[in-house]
Amino acid sequence: MSDLEKKKKEIRVRFAPSPTGELHIGGLRTALTDFLFAQQNKGKFILRIEDTDQKRLVKGSIKRIIHSLEWSGIKIDEGVFLNQKGEIIQKGKFGPYIQSQRLKIYQKYVEKLLQEGKAYRCFCSAQRLEKMRKEQLAQGEAPHYDRKCLNLTQKEIDEKIQKGEKYVVRFKIPSGKTSFNDLVYGKIEVKNETLDDQVILKSDGFPTYHLASVVDDYLMKITHVFRGAEWISSTPKHILLYQALGWEKSQPYFCHMPNILNKNKRKLSKREGSVSVQDFKQQGYPAEALINFIALLGWNPKTEQEIFTLKELIEQFDIKKMNKSGGIFDLDRLNWISAQHIKRMSVEKLYGLALPFLEKKNFFQEWKEKNKFINQEEYLKKVLEVEKERLEKFTDVGEKNKFFFQESGTIKISFDEMRWKKQTNQDIQKNLKKAYNTLYNISKNNWTRANIEKELLKTAQEKRGELLFPLRAVLTGQKYSPSPFEVAWVLGKKETLSRINRALDLFKNLD
Ligand code: GLU
Repeated sequence: MSDLEKKKKEIRVRFAPSPTGELHIGGLRTALTDFLFAQQNKGKFILRIEDTDQKRLVKGSIKRIIHSLEWSGIKIDEGVFLNQKGEIIQKGKFGPYIQSQRLKIYQKYVEKLLQEGKAYRCFCSAQRLEKMRKEQLAQGEAPHYDRKCLNLTQKEIDEKIQKGEKYVVRFKIPSGKTSFNDLVYGKIEVKNETLDDQVILKSDGFPTYHLASVVDDYLMKITHVFRGAEWISSTPKHILLYQALGWEKSQPYFCHMPNILNKNKRKLSKREGSVSVQDFKQQGYPAEALINFIALLGWNPKTEQEIFTLKELIEQFDIKKMNKSGGIFDLDRLNWISAQHIKRMSVEKLYGLALPFLEKKNFFQEWKEKNKFINQEEYLKKVLEVEKERLEKFTDVGEKNKFFFQESGTIKISFDEMRWKKQTNQDIQKNLKKAYNTLYNISKNNWTRANIEKELLKTAQEKRGELLFPLRAVLTGQKYSPSPFEVAWVLGKKETLSRINRALDLFKNLD
């Protein structure tokens, strides 16, 4: 490593969710961007928990957020983790990383701002603020604090405090303009007069998001802030806080990401169904597929490639290619991406991932019970080998091909369903017998997909439909299914012959 490289500042990014429920896919996108950027730059991905709004906390969220990140393959380098026992722990030299445990730190900086006249105590009651807000709105003004408490004398302040009056601390927005260069949106500039004197410390002693996030980003040496576009309007306030605290040289880069939109180009909301990582996990999407889909929501690789592993994303993701317009959440696209990932999976891996979903199905439990003496794992892997090509998610396993789990006697099929074009019943019978004999002559050891296909095609000659259509129908009882070669291979010689035999029995009554 050259001296220059050694001196290069370590890239440090943070994902800073508020523990108010499940990890939303918008949050996953932020975390993924943080993670990819950190990995590309050999930097650190920090998980910080922003729980300063105590009213909005939802029990268990921290654990659920970490589980969702872990499931997605996003590795935390520093901050909040779960240990082996599933308990919350913290690691890193800039802790604590849970904001409610850092109150003294924030109070110290609030004190500094107060002393320097950059912040002031505000004793206004909630009723007064509400009345003022309504009046301003009625006059067509944007609601803002009228600075009534800005010029209280020290004596007045002391008296109020002595009387036990509650107060908040507001940041005194200086005059002028504030600008920054957003990595996605470019230069953004606002007139400070449009900014409200933001509350930075609440009457319960907790800081607000604005102060806590600036103090922590500074103390935790964060170099890049990635977050949703809804925070753009907060950034000038943050920059002013950096300046007021004398930290402008350490100000991070800001990168706001466009919102994820629904098909009507509105912000995606919970009302539209699944929006949390947990929802998608439960529906049986592979984590790689969800990550791939989410990465492509705001980022255009500008190549033909659409399917990416996490490793490929780390190599190719480029924040400079991020779009300004919101990515559209298209479920069909997720399904397609998911199918591609499943297709590329090894059967071993698919088996491990799909089994828990199969276990929840009644038809599977019944099959398990009735087939105790076969090698179930071997059989299921064959089912998956065939289904792999057609699955969109793990929950689909077996759903379209229940005949793999049915007893031969329960497969019902009518003559019409077996009929290829204008075949007579005798034609069907004749072809089923031919198929039976062909399959009968394949030894158990040669019962491979390739052999079954080769032998059946040899028997069929040019008349493939005549032989294969009725065969597929009696093996599956369905109009659509994988090919009879694949189905016969999975079912095994004994079961295949027995299904054909049962169908042939139906013809006996016709003779
Ligand atoms: N706690 C904020 C959130 O949940 C974080 C915003 C930020 O990254 O600055 O969205």
